[in-house]
Parts: sequence; structure tokens; C-alpha cells
Amino acid sequence: MKTAITGGAGFIGSHLTEYLLAAGDEVAVLDNLSTGSMDNLHGVLDNPRFRFVEGDILDRAAVDSVVAGSDRVFHLAAAVGVKLIIEDPLTSLRTNIHGTEVVLDATLAAGAVLLLASTSEVYGKNTSDALTEESDRVLGSPLKSRWTYAAAKGIDEAFAYAYWKEYGLRAAIVRLFNTVGPRQTGRYGMVVPNLVGQALRGEPLTVFGDGRQTRCFSYVGDVVPALVRIAEIPAAYGQAFNLGGTQEVSILDFAHRVVELLESPSSISLIPYEQAYAPGYEDMRRRVPDNTKARDVVGFNPTTSIDEIIANVAVAGRQLPAYLPASSELAGA
Ligand code: UDP
Repeated sequence: MKTAITGGAGFIGSHLTEYLLAAGDEVAVLDNLSTGSMDNLHGVLDNPRFRFVEGDILDRAAVDSVVAGSDRVFHLAAAVGVKLIIEDPLTSLRTNIHGTEVVLDATLAAGAVLLLASTSEVYGKNTSDALTEESDRVLGSPLKSRWTYAAAKGIDEAFAYAYWKEYGLRAAIVRLFNTVGPRQTGRYGMVVPNLVGQALRGEPLTVFGDGRQTRCFSYVGDVVPALVRIAEIPAAYGQAFNLGGTQEVSILDFAHRVVELLESPSSISLIPYEQAYAPGYEDMRRRVPDNTKARDVVGFNPTTSIDEIIANVAVAGRQLPAYLPASSELAGA
């Protein structure tokens, strides 16, 4: 297989790159290195079946340079992370909407399969017990960046679906729920690398709000094989799939577990949202996936526990502390 990966120097993209190279694919990565990093790809740079192009998904020629001649395209490039979205809303919108359109056009021209990485953010503030792919979206004002991001990813999905329906593009969509693991950087606000980094340095763990908001973290090593299987199954085209973790945990409980497991001297400090984020930011109280569809269609069965996630992120962070930046290095701090 010849595979193209946009955003392949990012956290999930680099794990996918390694996985597909190990499976025998030729892999071409396009990444503008805005949030991705060559550090993530250091293990594959010498592989003769690997090719890297530095470029932007808004640039059709750059996209063609990896997509033309490919059998399948994994579109992971996007502006992600709460901090980035809030601080640079215009670039985020352009990248996430126009960039995806460019990738869809290039994939159609290449006659390749497309896997679009979407996000649980599309469900917005829907706090139901288990979000299915058909669940309603509950979004706040489009003048608030967080909902603009959710809206943009929703448009991406609608675009992919329309390319499937009208042009016959073999496109499948995955909605990723808080995918975490080694190489995820804390630089753009993600909670797991932030808290693990703080615990390793003995700094107070910054838990935002009352800490009772919950998430279902899913481990990158569980998610990556599912991405590949979904792209391979014709029944998945024109469909969306939730891919999330199975353990719902409050951020406060998660922080306590981090401290305990890493035997950290850190305290836990509750930071009001007004202090943590720009005014008008709204958090999601709860976000729980129903993974039944992915389980039924591709056998998705995430097994990595929260304790294993914490341990693996800590090991990787000790090896390369740049992934777990000090609070003072965080974007916008
Ligand atoms: N969060 C936190 N401390 C941090 C970073 C994030 O308490 O240092 C909280 C954040 O407010 C949210 C949860 O952790 O409730 C998950 O945040 P993240 O940005 O990782 O993902 P998302 O909000 O997109 O689910």
C-alpha cells in the first residue's frame, strides 16, 4: 500500500506512520510543522519506505506531492488544541475548512481512499450517558472559538460525506475522544501531558474549574489500529465512527491518580476557568462515547487503562521533557 498522511509529524500521525511502516506500507507524510515536530518522526527517518514533505494542506501542490499515486490518505492535519484555537481563530478556521477541501479534492483526483480525523468536539455540550454517532450536537455561540472549531470539524465531516455521496469518494470519518499517549505535547493545553509534566517536576497540578468535569481518555496505541481497519472496510465509507476510551474519569480524580502513581510531591490546585482560559471559554462537563459501532464493524476494543496511560506518558516525558513543557513555556502563558 502507498499511504499519505497529512499531519504525520503530529502526535497521532507519527504513531500511525510507525504502525503503517511496520505493516510494510510506503508512507509519505505532509506536515507544516506548526504543531507537529520532526522529533516525533526520528524513529522512521532512515526508513527507505518513508518520505517527508514540509508543507501546508492549504497548498494544493504540496498536498498532491504526497497524495498523487497513493492508495489511501489519512487526513490528520488540523489546527487543534484549545489554546491554539482561541489564540489563532482565523488560521484555525482556514486550515480546518479550506485545508480539508483541498485534501478531499486531491484524494478524489488520486482515486484514493480517505480517512478523515474528526473529533468528539462536534457533539459540543451534549452530556448524555453515551454519545452515539447519531447524537445531537449542542453548540454554543459561533463567536466563541471553541464552538467555531466544533463547527469547522462538523463542516469537514459534511464535506467528506458529500464527496462520498456525490462523487463516490471512498471516505470514512472517525471522531476521536481525547486521544492521549506519548508524544502528545502539553504546549497547546492538553490535560494529560500538562498534569504528568507538573507531577514529574513537583509543581502543583493545575486542575481547571471544580475538576468534576469528566473525560474518557483513549490510548493512541488502541486508536491507531482502528483508524487503519476503518479505512480498509468498504462498509465504513460514508460513515462516522466514535473512537473513545471506556473509563470515565473526572479531571480531579485523574490528577490524584497521577500524583499517586508517579509518587509525586505535587499538590493539586484548582484554577478558576477565568484564569485558565480567555473570557467566554466554555468547558465540556462530560463527554462519554458509545463505541458500539466501531466495535461491531472493526472490533475496536480499547484495553489500555488510565494507569498504563499515565505510566507510558511519564516514561516518554522523562526521555524527552520537551513534550511536557513547564507552565511558563505554554503557548500564550
Ligand atoms: N484541564 C485541566 N488542566 C489543564 C489542562 C486542561 O484541568 O492543565 C481540563 C480542561 O479544562 C478540560 C479537561 O481538562 O476540562 C480536558 O482538557 P483538554 O484540553 O485536554 O481536552 P478537551 O477539553 O478538548 O476535552
